[in-house]
Amino acid sequence: MDVATNLTMIQSNIGQACEKSNRHPNEITVIGVTKYVTIERTKEAINTGIKNLGENRSEGFLEKYNHIDSDVKWHFIGTLQSRKVKDVVDKVDAIHSLDRLSLAKEINKRASKQIDCFVQVNVSGEESKHGLQPEDVIPFIKEVQKYNYVRVVGLMTMAPHLEDNERLRGIFKRLALLRKTVQQENLANAPCEFLSMGMSNDYEVAIEEGATHIRIGSNLVG
Ligand SMILES: *Cc1c(COP(=O)(O)O)cnc(C)c1O
Repeated sequence: MDVATNLTMIQSNIGQACEKSNRHPNEITVIGVTKYVTIERTKEAINTGIKNLGENRSEGFLEKYNHIDSDVKWHFIGTLQSRKVKDVVDKVDAIHSLDRLSLAKEINKRASKQIDCFVQVNVSGEESKHGLQPEDVIPFIKEVQKYNYVRVVGLMTMAPHLEDNERLRGIFKRLALLRKTVQQENLANAPCEFLSMGMSNDYEVAIEEGATHIRIGSNLVG
């Protein structure tokens, strides 16, 4: 399927999810996850109007970054090894996978400006998923406050691949609630206004529960 056809379908679904939850599609940033696809296919996505791209490995990101000069925003969405931070930190617009203090420290050391970061949370408790346990998030953000170049703009989660929408909904609700709790703490450098949640399998439910950033790969470009 061409990307334009896929995007039309996704936009229609976003519209319906917004209508159900009294939201406006303008509140949702669609991140096109291009980790599976070529530079050509990525350019096709850009030509349909996609302005935010997501990559999950530093090599894949750098390859795309170096070959694409369109005005797009880059989101780093995968596990980031500390030794790779210096290669990507000043090139990305946001890192969605802040999951440990050593990573915050390295970002702070290597960045030349404040970096927008999402704290990754393992809401579902699955062992295979990266991210902090929900109860560790506030203490973690308090620790991160000593790193001036790390700005916690939101929370991110990856839900397990479930067909059961109500279980998915429970996961997204918990992340939304956690965001509220963080916001109430009024921590420096942690406005925590965004929720990066929802992928091809579950973005409609995520939007209904407050997602501001959805990360779509296979349904859009894959
Ligand atoms: C691959 C990936 C996505 C996109 O997944 P799809 O199911 O293909 O939409 C979103 N977020 C993260 C962190 C990913 O690694």
